[in-house]
Amino acid sequence: MRLIITEKNDAAKKIAGILAQRGVKEDAYLRIPYYLFNDEEGQPTTSVGLKGHVVQVDFPPEFSEWRKVEPKALIDAPLVKTETAKSVVRTIKKLAADASSLVIATDFDREGELIGLEALNLVVEENEKLVRAVRRARFSALTPGEIKRAFSHLDHLSEPLARAGEARQDIDLIWGATLTRFVSLATSRLGSQFLSVGRVQTPTLVLIAEREKERRAFVPEPFWVVKVELDHQGQRFGAVHKEERFTDEARAAAVFEKLATPGRVTAVKQTSRKVPRPAPFNTTSFTSAATALGYTAAAAMRIAEDLYMSGHISYPRTDNTVYPSSLDLREALDALAEGEFRREAGELLSRPTLHPSRGDKRTTDHPPIYPTGGPRRSELGDREWRLYELVARRFMATLADEAVMESNRVDLVISSEPFFARGNRVVHGGWLDYYPYSRQKDLELPFLRKDDLVELVDKQFEAKETQPPSRYGQGPLIELMEKHNLGTKATRHSIIQNLYDRGYVHGNPVEPTEMGIKMAEALQEFAPRIASPEMTAELEKDMDLISERDLTKEQVVTISRNLLRQAYSSLEQNREQMAAKIYEGITDDRILGGCPKCGTNRLRVIRSKATKKRFVGCEGYPDCDQTYPLPQRGDIIGTGEVCVHCGSPKVKILGGRRPWILCLDPHCPTKAEYREKQAARAAKATAAGEETGGATKSRSTKTATQSATKSAAKATSAKPAARKPAARKTPSPATGSAAASGSETPTTVGPGDEP
Ligand SMILES: [Zn+2]
Ligand SMILES: [Zn+2]
Repeated sequence: MRLIITEKNDAAKKIAGILAQRGVKEDAYLRIPYYLFNDEEGQPTTSVGLKGHVVQVDFPPEFSEWRKVEPKALIDAPLVKTETAKSVVRTIKKLAADASSLVIATDFDREGELIGLEALNLVVEENEKLVRAVRRARFSALTPGEIKRAFSHLDHLSEPLARAGEARQDIDLIWGATLTRFVSLATSRLGSQFLSVGRVQTPTLVLIAEREKERRAFVPEPFWVVKVELDHQGQRFGAVHKEERFTDEARAAAVFEKLATPGRVTAVKQTSRKVPRPAPFNTTSFTSAATALGYTAAAAMRIAEDLYMSGHISYPRTDNTVYPSSLDLREALDALAEGEFRREAGELLSRPTLHPSRGDKRTTDHPPIYPTGGPRRSELGDREWRLYELVARRFMATLADEAVMESNRVDLVISSEPFFARGNRVVHGGWLDYYPYSRQKDLELPFLRKDDLVELVDKQFEAKETQPPSRYGQGPLIELMEKHNLGTKATRHSIIQNLYDRGYVHGNPVEPTEMGIKMAEALQEFAPRIASPEMTAELEKDMDLISERDLTKEQVVTISRNLLRQAYSSLEQNREQMAAKIYEGITDDRILGGCPKCGTNRLRVIRSKATKKRFVGCEGYPDCDQTYPLPQRGDIIGTGEVCVHCGSPKVKILGGRRPWILCLDPHCPTKAEYREKQAARAAKATAAGEETGGATKSRSTKTATQSATKSAAKATSAKPAARKPAARKTPSPATGSAAASGSETPTTVGPGDEP
């Protein structure tokens, strides 16, 4: 009997269905399903799925007590492997006993190679003959074509590739556990409140914190804009003064005052330009596009993996942006045409030749992400469908024509002041017809010639301010991590999720907490190498060298232990200062706003010594006795805003499905309204399947940036309006810190063992 081991049950089932000559018999042992069938040559075969890693690397039990073991001891502690999925292990051993040959059919990457090697080591304990009868099936899509090709061209397991995966696992455990324990002990943050530090996580946090500090340091500069609304034979259009940003208010006001109808066209220019097609999707560009649709990076990857397992898309972990010549583009279009994209795919199939676009990253392991099936919309949940559709549309866009845009520019003079108007429209949709996500609304100008007169209908004088650099969305953050070589396509999204889970960041775009900022600062100051992207990027390269056999796993782990030893000793010497700095951040995060009762002191989160419960109290106690109750679960973050109904501070509660905003006063009239909204939102979220949501406002306490939100005092009257502080920006959707807590990808920064 031939045994096939896959990474997950879904794949085992799928492969059985593809390879079986006739039917597939499903059986199970210890509730672990497996599949019996005869392949096309009549060979009896069994396929069984693992649950990802079935063994885990860890320290021996004597190192598990945080308080009893000096974190430093973990640097050189021995590593042991323990079985994590016992019934899976027993099942594959039972099946291996009767097997005469073995095919490892785990995912085709470092991690998959390691999982395959782990499985091999286990089955060999049961049936040692198999060590000489093992082959490897490598495929990028769970489609009949790919699977049959892979099984007729079986390869060998790559030990160097598996060792590279193992090196990453070992290094991340050693670094994560040592530093996490050190920092948590130094700040007395134990139990569920532990503070994690990691090889990839920490430099990523530093990038986020640096951006926030730039925002805080940003000094907005005021400027003024003069706009007009014009009419030409009943068709309206807008124009802007040529000096787009006036820095002198008086001059702008003078210009505004003298404007009077009519205006005269002085020049008309028309240009057309080609808009190149997008490159094929790799993991980074896919995740980025998915976050633009409102998914978290972690959720997007989880769904993409499900779509891969169900045979709808190819393997979603890839750096490649060039379709290999072996990929049959027409076959993929044929598959699409079977589903909801019959018309679009049919258009492309009717062309005599296909010329796909190319990106600038070319690797040979996997093709870019492309659709492999044509499911019906009703077969998938809404969230799955929207990501499948994204992949399908992107694929078609890479095969379509370039788009052609026509742009117009009209120069005008109004009361001897120069103005201009811009228009643009798509004249040939090309790929934009397949991929509407990138399409901007056409902005049409009326047909105008030189010396035409236009009527001045309205004029506007707007006071604005320059804006600080914006916070990173999850998509751009993943792109930035890729640029700095931080993490891998398989881990980046879970690293970001970790930052949310540890309370270092919140919201979307990603905003650091005070604790997150101070943690980043502390590590930059006392262990700069841990905080900078260079070292971890170097280690990443070393791991690639293991898979190319230029370094051994042992060499790389030793290099990394030495680096860690240096960083550790520097942290140890500065233990007190480091803890003090982090405390500063934790304390700042507890400040929720000014006290409405005494008006002089601040409100903060306090934990009662007697009841151990937390509540909000005034720092002016005992002179001021203002208190508010608090939910006992979830992190609490000040929003810097007060409730318009009762004047109490509003706070953001993290944890649970998604963060929510709460007025602290339990008797506030908004409470009833709030409950209704929650119910409505929950219903809407279920219906629309939205990842993000919630009318949460971004936090802006203590920042110079809140005053920099656009102040758009608009005056359509003849008099310029004074510059007014603006209404706060529109609510930004907030990402649930727990929204994607169950990431199946290997965690890179886990502390190993919590006390
Ligand atoms: Zn007070
Ligand atoms: Zn209120």
